[in-house]
Amino acid sequence: MTDDWTAEAQAALEAGHPDEARALVDRAFREHPDDPDVRAMHAALHLAHAIRLSARARELRREAIVRRDIPYDTEFEDDPEVMRAFDGAAAAIEEVLAVDSHSEKGLMMKASLLFRRDRETGRPAALEILRQVAEGNPANRQVLYEIRKIELPCKKCGDSGFCARCRGRGSRRILGMESKCEACHGQGICLACGIL
Ligand SMILES: [Zn+2]
Ligand SMILES: [Zn+2]
Repeated sequence: MTDDWTAEAQAALEAGHPDEARALVDRAFREHPDDPDVRAMHAALHLAHAIRLSARARELRREAIVRRDIPYDTEFEDDPEVMRAFDGAAAAIEEVLAVDSHSEKGLMMKASLLFRRDRETGRPAALEILRQVAEGNPANRQVLYEIRKIELPCKKCGDSGFCARCRGRGSRRILGMESKCEACHGQGICLACGIL
């Protein structure tokens, strides 16, 4: 019987405690590693966790760039805090893939993170993963779309991944007033390539 923990994990999620929900599902997984419901929930929660951590890593990097006043289009080393955030996101994805090494969502997330973390080394690595997913499931349209998106360096932002208009700040100074950048809706990322 796995109904109890399902309800408990669901309640924790709804109460806004994803860490607690994940801990419950991890425990259920240790006890029922072959239960399909447990496996599905384990994958869904860890994937959601990875997505959150990846978004946070990118946001931390953007904040660090603004704080350190790094000029646009310049090579830079991530702060230790940003590196840790990317490591955490990568570890969360490995949790998904450790249970199901063929998880398409897990593999696509891994590709996206590799690309997001470092375009130079991440682009070929991400494309290799995405092409494997596409080969395994030709009906997956999303993966073809992502391959097309990252295949070539982005012209719009010089492949920095950040909004060229506001230089990643999310806001612009116009007539002495700080206002939200309309090109990226204040997100600071390049909407052509930075969304993956
Ligand atoms: Zn771009
Ligand atoms: Zn912008």
